[in-house]
Amino acid sequence: MTAEEVKLQIRNIPDFPVKGIQFKDITTALQQPECLRWMRDEMVNLYKNKGITKIVGVESRGFIIAPAVAMELGVGFVPIRKPGKLPAETVEISYQKEYGVDTIQIHKDALSADDVVLLHDDLLATGGTMAAAIELVKKFGVKKVYVNFLIELDFLNGRELLEKGAQVNSLIHM
Ligand code: AMP
Repeated sequence: MTAEEVKLQIRNIPDFPVKGIQFKDITTALQQPECLRWMRDEMVNLYKNKGITKIVGVESRGFIIAPAVAMELGVGFVPIRKPGKLPAETVEISYQKEYGVDTIQIHKDALSADDVVLLHDDLLATGGTMAAAIELVKKFGVKKVYVNFLIELDFLNGRELLEKGAQVNSLIHM
């Protein structure tokens, strides 16, 4: 498969969840094993020689492909979640959204200063969520942070917000 072929399997839903948003629905691609395999293999090829020690996925669509990649790289998977979901002691960060403030959390014992982290989410829009996730992971003093998305919405320039703190890569550009 190619990036262009997988792109054709991603469904566009106009005006979801609110008017004016073109929602990129990956569930149509996820139904197809060849698309799943392509996403996993592309990520494995990108990151296999980078010394990654943990893959950190952002709730909730960042939990789908990341564990498959972690297994291939022989490293662990760590979830970043919304408040109240993680059962043990957490570290958190709050960030400004278009309307109001959001918070994300990670388990306090999930990372250490020895880690090289690959942060993953399904889609890069404005970059606000991932910028907060990078800051959260950096609280652990980790050695290096890589950032990966399945899809990047180029016209929103979210990448600009992230590239100071991490090396950013996306499998599909829209
Ligand atoms: P942002 O913080 O603006 O980069 O938004 C990123 C988060 O919102 C990701 O977790 C995405 O899953 C979700 N998201 C934002 N815009 C879209 C969109 N147009 N289609 C699908 N998901 C989106």
